Amino acid sequence: MSTLPTSTVGSFPKPDYLLRARAKASKAELSAESLRGLEEEATREWIAFQEEAGIEVLVDGEQYRGDMATYFAENLEGMEVSGLVRSYGNRYYKKPIVRGDLRRLGPISVDWFRFAQRLTDKPVKGMITGPYTMMDWSFDEHYGSREELAMAFAKLLHDEAGDLEAAGAKIIQIDEPALATRHDELPLVVKTVGVVSQGLRAKTILHTCYGNYDEIYGYFNRLPVDQLLLELSNSGLDLLERFRREPLKKEISFGVIDVHSHVVETPAVVRGRIEKALTVFHPQRLWISPDCGLKTRTVEEAQGKLRSMVAATRAVKESHGFR
Ligand SMILES: [Zn+2]
Repeated sequence: MSTLPTSTVGSFPKPDYLLRARAKASKAELSAESLRGLEEEATREWIAFQEEAGIEVLVDGEQYRGDMATYFAENLEGMEVSGLVRSYGNRYYKKPIVRGDLRRLGPISVDWFRFAQRLTDKPVKGMITGPYTMMDWSFDEHYGSREELAMAFAKLLHDEAGDLEAAGAKIIQIDEPALATRHDELPLVVKTVGVVSQGLRAKTILHTCYGNYDEIYGYFNRLPVDQLLLELSNSGLDLLERFRREPLKKEISFGVIDVHSHVVETPAVVRGRIEKALTVFHPQRLWISPDCGLKTRTVEEAQGKLRSMVAATRAVKESHGFR
């Protein structure tokens, strides 16, 4: 891999034809088979876009997922997914409910990983929703202990990671957006992520977002993964000074694109963020990425932001003489 590899967090927006198809399928007006065909079509388009844009480490774009927790919940014995529940004002989501002992019926994410990896010679990341987030976002009617439930998820997600590795995944990302929810449970995050990553030969990446990183900073070096992928541009790169004072002992994927903003950053703006990152991190340990998944942006915004990210990275590499 070259210096400053470019990658993304995982989700891309769904094209209009797929959004319409999902709405039809939810009313039983479209077969599961037809929907799957369109999900494959959208995945092909996103793989082709990433290759054409010059991104180095690819993702499948999660065109087949609704929510990252329910996607795994729907494929586990012992879990059910509720009807729509209201949260945060007008946002509706389906809540995963734990009703019995959790068991994997088989690999969950491996089919889509294989499908995407067959379309490209570039590495595609295997993507797992982390054990702590699965626990925190589920309603538990069975285990009665947050720790026991998180450990149950961790064990089956370890098997999932092993299956991804066996299918050829060289990089496995564990998404833990809930990591900073309760500071007293950070040791549990460390423990359960360690169960997932134990013994893997693949490079492991942990992604988190939405947190007050300054308060949880002490745990970053304890997380048993090779790389952290962090949301940094939305907070104006505030954390850089902390990284300067207390060096990170692992690789970082540095978020240089604000996914919450409709504004497509210019390559010059992104280049400034990469240059700031280079004042703190060694280029061999620095990857370039958006802050988070891009699924809430339009297709045009997401593609514009990613093109700026690649153009900025190329300009930085050229000016520093990196290969
Ligand atoms: Zn995120």
